[in-house]
Amino acid sequence: MVGERTPQRSGESRSEAETLATCRCRLSFPGMRIHYLSCGTDCPFGGPLFDGFSKSLFGLIPCAAQLVETNNGLVLIDTGYGTQDVRQPHPRLSKFFHALLNIKFRMRDTALHQIKALGYSPEDVRHIVLTHLDFDHAGGIEDFPNARVHVMEKERDAAENKRRGFIARRRYRPVQWDDVRDWRTYADGGESWFGFDRVRALDGLPPEILMVPLEGHTSGHAGIAIQSNSGWVLNAGDAYFYRRELDADRRRCTPGLRFYQTLMDTDRKRRIENQERLRELKRTEGSHVTIFCSHDAKELEALQRMPTS
Ligand SMILES: [Zn+2]
Repeated sequence: MVGERTPQRSGESRSEAETLATCRCRLSFPGMRIHYLSCGTDCPFGGPLFDGFSKSLFGLIPCAAQLVETNNGLVLIDTGYGTQDVRQPHPRLSKFFHALLNIKFRMRDTALHQIKALGYSPEDVRHIVLTHLDFDHAGGIEDFPNARVHVMEKERDAAENKRRGFIARRRYRPVQWDDVRDWRTYADGGESWFGFDRVRALDGLPPEILMVPLEGHTSGHAGIAIQSNSGWVLNAGDAYFYRRELDADRRRCTPGLRFYQTLMDTDRKRRIENQERLRELKRTEGSHVTIFCSHDAKELEALQRMPTS
């Protein structure tokens, strides 16, 4: 663990800040707390054919993010849609994905709005760690101008230099991150973690936060693992989309999300291999590694309900 202080909420005493944080946190490590946020809502036509539970014609697909309180500032893991996406979706985002996903742009969903509601200021967010640079994960980056942005080198290269083809041009929207001044990108290489290789610690972040390459959905896609005192939590991003996909027996995915994953993947073989590795991780280490993905409402709700540890 590095750093010296827990970020203070403006205008609050330490004890008030602590009380609020304690009420809202879901998992904790000494000096480190994790909040589970949804920073965007997609309501695709098809309802349960996407989310597996809706009773209406429209599904409910969150964009999960985590806010981690560390001893040296806030760390935001993925950012969903940002305030600029809400104010002016076009031409910032593509009309194709806006229509396909039936995105509901709401200011209250943004990470900035939720972080302010917790009593913090945007400047308190020192680091943003991204699973990948798709439009529904990168939209809030520029709401936090002081943050260092961490992503796999291959992902930044793909998003900035290889935007070729119908999907690539629409999924990667450089306007969402063109003002970033402090990038940290990570080349292949690193340690082993529960059978996953090339796992990296991140520059300036506590050693309990790791980047776990999980390519397939995009070429530089990664999961983000955090060690809490309740065990490890692995944010698998878009390595899978539906909670039952990691089941050992009778695994399944809804047709809508199966279609979407197939539409979006850049390396199907790697995506399926990595899903198999995640399934194995859950089977063998599920008692002390919690895995969740970016777009499953039930998984996210379960994490948001978890008692403070
Ligand atoms: Zn996504």
